[in-house]
Amino acid sequence: MKIQYVIINFLLLAGLLFLFCRKLVARIFTGRRTRILQELDEAERIENSPPPEMPDPAYAAAGDERLAQAGEAARAAVAQERALAESGVARMEAFGERECREIHRIMIQKTKRKFFQVMKDKVAETFSKEPYLSRMRAREPAQIDDILTQIKLTPGDMAYLRYHGVLYVTLTSAYKLDPALVKKVDEATTALLDTVNGRTSLWVLEDPSLIGGVRLRIGDTVYDHTVSEELYHFEKNISRAPVTSDEIVEEVLQEFNEMARTTEPKLHVYQLGRVLQISDGICWMDGLIDIMYGEVVEFDCGERGMVLDIQPQRVGCVVFGEYENIESGSKVRRVGRIASVPVGEGLLGRVVNPIGDPVDGEGYIYAAEKRPVECRAPGILDRAAVSDPLHTGLKAIDALVPIGRGQRELIIGDRQTGKTAIALDAIINQKGKDTVCVYVAIGQKDTTIAEIRSRLAQYGALEYTTIVAATASDSAATQYLAPFAGTAMAEYFMYAGRDVLIIYDDLSKHAVAYRELSLLLHRPSGREAYPGDIFYLHSRLLERSAHLSEELGGGSITALPIIETQAGDISAYIPTNVISITDGQIFLESELFHEGQRPAINVGLSVSRVGGAAQTRLMKQMSASLRTKLAQYRELADFTQLGTDMDPDTKRALDSGAHLMEALKQGRFDPLDDWQQALLLFAVSDGYADGVPLDGMEGFEKGLFAYFEKSCAPLAEQLKTGRKQTPEQLAAIRAALDEYKKTVA
Ligand code: ATP
Ligand code: MG
Repeated sequence: MKIQYVIINFLLLAGLLFLFCRKLVARIFTGRRTRILQELDEAERIENSPPPEMPDPAYAAAGDERLAQAGEAARAAVAQERALAESGVARMEAFGERECREIHRIMIQKTKRKFFQVMKDKVAETFSKEPYLSRMRAREPAQIDDILTQIKLTPGDMAYLRYHGVLYVTLTSAYKLDPALVKKVDEATTALLDTVNGRTSLWVLEDPSLIGGVRLRIGDTVYDHTVSEELYHFEKNISRAPVTSDEIVEEVLQEFNEMARTTEPKLHVYQLGRVLQISDGICWMDGLIDIMYGEVVEFDCGERGMVLDIQPQRVGCVVFGEYENIESGSKVRRVGRIASVPVGEGLLGRVVNPIGDPVDGEGYIYAAEKRPVECRAPGILDRAAVSDPLHTGLKAIDALVPIGRGQRELIIGDRQTGKTAIALDAIINQKGKDTVCVYVAIGQKDTTIAEIRSRLAQYGALEYTTIVAATASDSAATQYLAPFAGTAMAEYFMYAGRDVLIIYDDLSKHAVAYRELSLLLHRPSGREAYPGDIFYLHSRLLERSAHLSEELGGGSITALPIIETQAGDISAYIPTNVISITDGQIFLESELFHEGQRPAINVGLSVSRVGGAAQTRLMKQMSASLRTKLAQYRELADFTQLGTDMDPDTKRALDSGAHLMEALKQGRFDPLDDWQQALLLFAVSDGYADGVPLDGMEGFEKGLFAYFEKSCAPLAEQLKTGRKQTPEQLAAIRAALDEYKKTVA
């Protein structure tokens, strides 16, 4: 019985539920159906509606007016920013010039960016209206034809096809394209792929940010016929110019007007890739299969990088500048050239970073030419023997380890032993000798570089010197690039037939920067964790220093690389590498430095393998026995260190040796002429200074030069020729020295 009640109750309940819910469900479904029908109707109405009416001709004038307004707006933005920047500079003058200049630079950059943004928005707005719009759209078929005549498969595309069998083709336009055009593109690309038995997969997209025109991408290659691409190139062309000047604003406006009138974007072909991963200044990308080692790539945010690693599936590059703004998945564009720097006369007297941008706040550098940072060294037949001297003005170097033009002489020593001092003296001594100098600072402090610059300016040496600065706070990539950039700048002068002196201060820090890069690029590490190609890195750098043959203009690059040793260990990895690459080394010792022997050159360990041929005949004659005398002195000094009683001969030899060592001392920024050095060393090694107390040697030296200039002018003139002296001439010099000795005694 009970079961019957339960069943009846259940049936009643189910009946009621059915009655109520049926209405509810029906209401939900009918609501949706009417909405869908409405939307379908709307779509049909839009599709069948007539095209928008063509505007009246008066609109063209209105468009031009709007463009003029755009110019006004851009100009106002620039003026405002510039006023802000200038007032900022004025206000902050008190905080120091350098900081102000940096702030000024950043502000100018910001102004430029804003300027271009304003321009872009205005151009987009103008082009979205008639008559520009219809004019632009009417060109689409011609643009497609233009693109289709250019399309071809790159080796990278072929490689991709071999693995995947299909190549992706994307056709993007600012507005919906005529289906006939799309069909045409489809047919052309299919036909292209048919030639290599590949398939295509065509995607058709609309992207209003293109502003106008069409863009076809086949694999990694983009055939770009759009207004936005034109704007991109436009921006690139003038972004290096000081945009805050009024003429540039006018120029930009004029060009934009021109563009608006003709609406004829050119076809640009480039390759795109994609950022896979970015960290520690190293970016991994895919695509870009055809890219070359050392090529420049540009990221969406405007930063640039240089390709340093090419693997089958990915490409690794280093990023110059801020890598924080680069996002994984964003696009990266092949710029289509090897990393290069501006070169030329405009760089003299300036401090630039390794990309060639000025960092001294002295404004824009006008350089008409660029040179790739990596360049093949001159071959053997292109070179002439090292035969002309490059005087450093330092006695200890010019007499004992002479340097010739085109030579590579290593300056090696522990920290704080006067390495940079020697290099700077060598630069200062080039004044008036028609030699251009390049000083490459790698991994040094900002303040050190500022100090070096002011020293060079003080001695009038900045005007023929370029300083390439990659400071310790710069990225490893920037430090890695610095010596190559400096060499490219030097090469410009060398190939123009001039003599260049280049200093790399220092290559140990360069090696460390390259080690950092290599480890981040996951290359296997070798001795002292340096990558295996570190020797090749420095040798291909230093091989570019040469003395060119007469046919090539006879120019030269003389390189003075600097290496810092740890506790005098010249047998460490990097020092031995660079010693074996260079044509000799100047070895500086801490011990000598602290004893007051400055420059602290260890004569025994220093050598110049080719410079002897470049010494003047005079210097060769006058300093012939110097090396042996100094070696004998050192041996004697070591031997007699502990002994007390000495025979008079030993004592005399020691005394004369001590005088020689004293004569080799030289203060900073006090370069001597060749004849002065030769005369002094001749006088001292021949015993004319023997009676002079050691601390009186400086006076002896100064007096000697003054005496010869004043009392023996013909003799001084004869010495200045740099020729070998005949026995009679030598006798005359000896007689003059005897006279001088009498005045000293
Ligand atoms: P670092 O390892 O820091 O680069 P460095 O080896 O380049 O040092 P310098 O900076 O050239 O050495 O010189 C160190 C100090 O020695 C400086 O204060 C410099 O003024 C002084 N000095 C160098 N050469 C001489 C010299 N010939 N006479 C007097 N002082 C000198
Ligand atoms: Mg130094």
